[in-house]
Amino acid sequence: MTKPAICTNPAASASRASATALVVGGGIAGLACALRLAEQGVSVTVLETRKKLGGRATSFRDVRSGEVLDNCQHVVLGCCTNYMDFLTRLGAADRIRFSREQYWVEAGGRTSVIRRGGLPAPFHFGVSFLRAKFLTMAEASGIGRCCVRMLSTDRASHSNETFGQWLRAQGQTDSVIRRFWAPVVVSACNLDVDRVSASSALHVFQEGFLAHEHAADIGVSSVPLVELYDRAERLISEKGGRIVLGAGVERIKRIEGRLTAVTTDGEAYSADAVVCAVPVERVNRLVDEEIRRGDSRFAPLDRFKHSPILGVHLRFDRNVMGDLPHAVLVDRGTQWLFRKNEEGSYVHAVVSAADDWLELDERGIAERVEGDVRACLAGAKGAALVSARAVKEKLATFAPVPGLDALRPDSAPPREAGGSVGLFLAGDYTKTGWPATMEGAARSGYAAAAGVLGMRADDLLVPSLSVAPLSRWLGLAG
Ligand SMILES: Cc1cc2nc3c(=O)[nH]c(=O)nc-3n(C[C@H](O)[C@H](O)[C@H](O)COP(=O)(O)OP(=O)(O)OC[C@H]3O[C@@H](n4cnc5c(N)ncnc54)[C@H](O)[C@@H]3O)c2cc1C
Repeated sequence: MTKPAICTNPAASASRASATALVVGGGIAGLACALRLAEQGVSVTVLETRKKLGGRATSFRDVRSGEVLDNCQHVVLGCCTNYMDFLTRLGAADRIRFSREQYWVEAGGRTSVIRRGGLPAPFHFGVSFLRAKFLTMAEASGIGRCCVRMLSTDRASHSNETFGQWLRAQGQTDSVIRRFWAPVVVSACNLDVDRVSASSALHVFQEGFLAHEHAADIGVSSVPLVELYDRAERLISEKGGRIVLGAGVERIKRIEGRLTAVTTDGEAYSADAVVCAVPVERVNRLVDEEIRRGDSRFAPLDRFKHSPILGVHLRFDRNVMGDLPHAVLVDRGTQWLFRKNEEGSYVHAVVSAADDWLELDERGIAERVEGDVRACLAGAKGAALVSARAVKEKLATFAPVPGLDALRPDSAPPREAGGSVGLFLAGDYTKTGWPATMEGAARSGYAAAAGVLGMRADDLLVPSLSVAPLSRWLGLAG
């Protein structure tokens, strides 16, 4: 077999080095990158510090109950074409169950169903919006007009203002912002409307709602997240690579001119190309100063801030969910509830942008979430809470504040790079255009793999859903 080309020199499209690559980090970005490289015949070694794969989208064994729990419910939308492609390559795409409806529940239990009607995108939700009980007719029409304006808005030109500012400039009231825009944006971008950059939030609505009638389909895994990666090891080793778990990399540096990852127990792994796929806050600690010097990708990383998410597992003594698969809570601290068992007695609650909750201990968190459950779900009346398990992820995602887009690095080294030639970055924080999501992570992994192979960053990307003709006609770019 001919050896694949690995690009260690950004000035050359591809050099003919022997085909080995190291990927540091076995989250979605690292695995997506490693899979694509392995498929191209590159002998790839993945070094992951933990004893399991998946990074921030994974599961753990709860010491109290012995059960395997997800750190947090993860949602994939229909527009996440690269993440779904990644799962398809892993043979795990059929483990995602998609729902085409969203259930919005107010205090008191009144429920509005947002579902596609007969109209084409971008008006596919139009009828159910006009029928939504948590909005007046005037509010629903105002949201509709705002969405039409979004279609022709160049989101990149709004990266230095907050979404709250943008919405108010469109005449959206505080009440509508709180009850409609906030639950969507806080869940998708993990930041409040008055902190998140307008460009990130506009991205969510343009790509996730308005571009295509399937864009907002909601997918959740039917198995613990960690099981989605079951086949990664075999697929990579079949191509001559391997995954090393429990291998914490202390430093990525050059030893005798070769890029080398040195682990905390002193093992040194060298390769022609290295992909650093660790979370943003770790990159500058890992990559040797000598490599970072003169490479503009690294200095801005210290300016990234994080935003926390809480995932709360609640078990009641009876069905509290009724027949709902999930519930978006209107104007509550808890944004989402997910049904986790057939019976409806096991509920997973998600609190994004959870800064105000961090001071609370597990009991305090459980009480607050339980209050939201009882306020909104009629089935919770008389039900006893049997157990609660809260998982705090303080560094859940980077905070996509105004101005951040300009700090996000490319995967590949700049042309003028010296010591960093051959070192690629992958991770949800890189310049994918997406908020911190599994889709962003998968895209970044594919971009890094393309760079290693000497291709352009988007050569391995799966196209987004095609923009519906009417959405395009109303101004949404493809
Ligand atoms: C609570 C929570 C809820 C979320 N909900 C959603 C959601 O609903 N939908 C969605 O799309 N996204 C969601 N996200 C975001 C999503 O999980 C992330 O964007 C994505 O998983 C990031 O993947 P990554 O590969 O870039 O980084 P990571 O998942 O952080 O992977 C990095 C990997 O590097 C490893 N590593 C770190 N240091 C070293 C080292 N020194 N040596 C070796 N390995 C190292 C880590 O252990 C980890 O496995 C959520 C995140 C959290 C935390």
